[in-house]
Amino acid sequence: MNNEFRLQKSIVPSHYSIFIEPDLTNDTFSGSEKISISVLKKTEFIKINSIGLIIENVKLTGNIELNFSKIEEDKKHETITIHFKSQIDPGCYNLEIKFSGNLDNSLRGFYLSSYKDNEDVEHKIGTTQFESTDARRAFPCFDEPEFKAVFSISLKLDQNLMAISNSPIESELTDSDGKKTIIFKETIKMSTYLVAFIIGPFEESETAIVNKIPIKIVSVKGKKHLSKYALNCAKFFLDYFNNYYGINYPGSKLDLIAVPDFASGAMENFGCITFRESLLLVDETRATESELTRIADVIAHEIAHMWFGDLVTMKWWNGIWLNEAFATFMATKAVDKFNPDWERWVQFGFERSAAFDVDSLEETRPIEYEVISPDDASGMFDLLTYEKGGSVLRMLEQYLGEESFQDGVKKYLKIHQYSNTDTEDLWESLEKSTNEPVEKTMESWIFQPGFPQIKVSEEKDSLKLEQSIFKYEKTSNENQIWKIPIVIKSFSESDESIYKTLIEDNNKIIELNSSPDIFHLVNVGGDGFYRVQYSNDLLAKILKNLNPEKNKLSNIERFCLLDDYWSDILSSNKTVDTFLENLQFFKDENDPEVLNLIISCLSFIDRFIDKNYSNNFKSFSKDYFSHLLKKHGFKNNKNDTNKIKEFKAALIRGLGNICDDEKTINYCKELFETYRKNPKNVEANSLAATISVLSNNGDSNLYNEFLNLYLNSSTPQDEMRFLFALSSFQNIDNFINTLELSLSEKVRTQNAPYLLGQTLRNKKHFSVSWNFIEKNWDIINDKFPENSIPRLLTGIRSITDEETSKKIKTFLKNNKVPQGQKTVDQHIEKLNINVKFRNFNLKYLEKFFLKYN
Ligand SMILES: [Zn+2]
Repeated sequence: MNNEFRLQKSIVPSHYSIFIEPDLTNDTFSGSEKISISVLKKTEFIKINSIGLIIENVKLTGNIELNFSKIEEDKKHETITIHFKSQIDPGCYNLEIKFSGNLDNSLRGFYLSSYKDNEDVEHKIGTTQFESTDARRAFPCFDEPEFKAVFSISLKLDQNLMAISNSPIESELTDSDGKKTIIFKETIKMSTYLVAFIIGPFEESETAIVNKIPIKIVSVKGKKHLSKYALNCAKFFLDYFNNYYGINYPGSKLDLIAVPDFASGAMENFGCITFRESLLLVDETRATESELTRIADVIAHEIAHMWFGDLVTMKWWNGIWLNEAFATFMATKAVDKFNPDWERWVQFGFERSAAFDVDSLEETRPIEYEVISPDDASGMFDLLTYEKGGSVLRMLEQYLGEESFQDGVKKYLKIHQYSNTDTEDLWESLEKSTNEPVEKTMESWIFQPGFPQIKVSEEKDSLKLEQSIFKYEKTSNENQIWKIPIVIKSFSESDESIYKTLIEDNNKIIELNSSPDIFHLVNVGGDGFYRVQYSNDLLAKILKNLNPEKNKLSNIERFCLLDDYWSDILSSNKTVDTFLENLQFFKDENDPEVLNLIISCLSFIDRFIDKNYSNNFKSFSKDYFSHLLKKHGFKNNKNDTNKIKEFKAALIRGLGNICDDEKTINYCKELFETYRKNPKNVEANSLAATISVLSNNGDSNLYNEFLNLYLNSSTPQDEMRFLFALSSFQNIDNFINTLELSLSEKVRTQNAPYLLGQTLRNKKHFSVSWNFIEKNWDIINDKFPENSIPRLLTGIRSITDEETSKKIKTFLKNNKVPQGQKTVDQHIEKLNINVKFRNFNLKYLEKFFLKYN
């Protein structure tokens, strides 16, 4: 296949010596490098990746010395072609290049970040973000993952600044101009996208040691006190992965660095992991369980990559899905061990559900697809890569058995360390460990878009399972089938039994006893990436046994049952009134994830319910929550487990935001008064719920108070909490102020797109938000990081209003988002489905509430 974006295969780099000197006063940098290359075939030119750099000089040294004759720049393919004065024979050479560039605010390549200290003095930082293809913006390089090399990096900087890179410092020199040059040790053999260097006024945490590897948390000055939790996480996870992978961490130090401006969540630069501040720095006593889980997740995810991704790397960007899916899966696994109370695999239900949601669209894509351009690679960083990919790996692991799976992973890493792989290489190692047809099974999940729904019905002494593709709307791919690992549990009065099988055809009949007091559950443990639809008889039996006090279905199984049912409503297989009817079976629910799912379904209905029935809907919802409130209360007790704290917070959200319940709102007001007096006296989960309820109901005074709390927050979590709360206020002047704020200097460009995305979810003013986005489209695209535009537009997925929907579609038809067009097309399809869903279900809601009255 001829891909014009690819470099010559016959020139192979093995070592880079890179020197970089940033000028943080004038926002520029200069550099020089010497790349050791092997030329395998006679050539007149060398093509190398470079974009946005000024090339000042190039020469080829070694046995001969050659100067360049001409340099051709190809902006589209982000390369330069260096022509030399004579032919280059096969052999080993050094390619020496002098270059310079600008430090900008694009949050990619070598870029500029900044922060203000307590005295309001601004400090600048030079930092890097190279994945997928932005190393070429910092130094000319063979910027393809398969060109692995060793890197020797030196940086020149002011004496008062600190520099961090992938390896430990080898030596430090004071230069004649008073500056210092820091020389770092050689890295392991690795891909260009994993190189990192960071310069600024940083400070380090204390050092933790795991198996002789020093680990440190690095943050800007003044934030060291927020690094304890991350250090504990990193310690736990490095040890966990040393054991799981059976290979010791291949580096000689590990730094985790909080960068004030950062386009994604975190980045697995080898030995030098970078994070946005809110995902690393935290005051543990003032953070919610979900914030702490998220931080642990991200740290585990990045450390998992040190082996899977960094030590063994995909050959080309089509393999990035496996890299990310695997790290997502491993992180969930590791965090489940880090804090078993969180029941991380139950929480994963939400992530799987989000992946199902995208994968139910016509505009979905297979997990793996052909990647040609950098934009194609950018498009891969989405839910289908992380969440669907992670789910499918979990399903495979549970089917093969955890130990055999681990064994296969160990083999894979051992064989391929310091080199590159295709997806099939992992399947091959797993097949060797398990003797199962892994590759064939996985092909149906990796190369086909979408996923199956299994219809389950009872026949005489048997269970009938039928698979067909699940879509929100009728599809053209109706004949697709999957190889589906299935786990079934049969419950009788006194007994439970498990049955495992692989469905390979359209349907399968399984001999299982059936009688009125026996019921069967499909997708036991909830690990399968498929939806289940039970026949009415079977469903009735399961619902009767649903009560958590009966101990029949686990938390994740109740979650899946409800989530599968809701998806049938979204696809119009069932009508929304039946969901409301069946809610009675969840009246004694005690798991926060299941309750949060119920809240999210009710919130969706709340967005489009006809004014005439709005009060009925509120009182119906209030009845549901009040029963739970009687049992649990809002107030926190000393002995509350994490789960109970989260459950109570969910109740506050449900009653406050869906039912506008006055007692709850008053409770929140009191709680916030306590917070004003001393923030430490309010339990964090309840506080987060309270802020959400108050922002939905607050006046301008409260708005200004929240705005100030955002601007003067003492932890990154408080900062995010108060910032995003500004999107929910109902007063139009406040709302417009939030919109304008998002384009001002007061909101970092790493956060602003998400704030704007959140304003699209405002119940009352979503159309004002859309008009603002349309009007400022050019500014938004100019100012915000490229990868954040499709994420900003995620907000349109919650809109059900026909008129706004039309406006959005017309606009997005004429304004493309090349770095994430697939994702945007998915948002638009979801928008269409919402509108249809609303029109279809209004009459059923009417029917339900006439009866309910
Ligand atoms: Zn990752």
